[in-house]
Amino acid sequence: MIIFKKVNDLKQQLSAFRKQGKTFGFVPTMGALHEGHLSLIRLARSKSDLTICSIFVNPTQFNDPEDFNKYPVTTAADIQLLESEGVDILFLPSVEEIYPPDSQPKHYALGTVETMLEGAYRPGHFQGVCQVIDRFLTIIEPDIIVMGQKDYQQVMVIKKLLELTGQQVRLITCPTLREFTGLARSSRNTRLTDEQRAQASIIYSALLYGKNHLATASPGLLIADITAKILSNGFYKCDYVAICNADDLSPIEVYNTNRTAIILVAAFIGNVRLIDNILV
Ligand code: AMP
Repeated sequence: MIIFKKVNDLKQQLSAFRKQGKTFGFVPTMGALHEGHLSLIRLARSKSDLTICSIFVNPTQFNDPEDFNKYPVTTAADIQLLESEGVDILFLPSVEEIYPPDSQPKHYALGTVETMLEGAYRPGHFQGVCQVIDRFLTIIEPDIIVMGQKDYQQVMVIKKLLELTGQQVRLITCPTLREFTGLARSSRNTRLTDEQRAQASIIYSALLYGKNHLATASPGLLIADITAKILSNGFYKCDYVAICNADDLSPIEVYNTNRTAIILVAAFIGNVRLIDNILV
């Protein structure tokens, strides 16, 4: 695996690979890698000649300075994992490399997907996500980008970004990888105590309960049930429990079995905010 810290060095190498006719699969991450990230990398590897992974804790997408400061950094272990997964290139830039001091932050007209759900609780978050992904896509020009369903709204935001910028890249979504308890793998799980980690599996049980009852219960009552289950098991606050249409995240008032639904949750345990979702 070749590690690049500078944009220009990376671009030079990629242009040489392009001349050889290689296709590029790109997996952006913030590091503290776990099996969920590795499942994205395996998918990217299966669909392209070269796999490029980035590790960059993007400051512009954090609205909570404590979350940013406490974000786990495990670069040496990450590099070993990426090597063992056969990743070809790791892009490990500094903040100045991604956001040169003389550059102006771009603003993206993302529409309602920016301000609902995660956007309502994390103002500016999706603008920050778009800034970094737009920059990466411009530098790397991958054929495919692989992202996780765990961050479902983020995937929808990136679809919108691609519409706005016209970048020619195929976005592939990878299913959420879970621990055997059902807890979605997340870099933030390392900040949970053993007890909290066990309690946190309630999110998936509650999502499954929602999935199994959506055909027969009203969405409003189901949201109340799911929220109560989560709050009875170690979580002290739910930012939201929402039942939406999966194609546009509009809230569902009456469930229609012909249209894919999604149940989404964001909740706090200790001072850790976890998100998850399930498609129905
Ligand atoms: P992050 O490092 O948290 O920014 O995540 C990088 C990518 O990995 C994003 O596309 C996430 O959606 C994806 N991801 C994170 N956790 C999981 C998981 N448990 N299963 C699948 N993909 C995941």
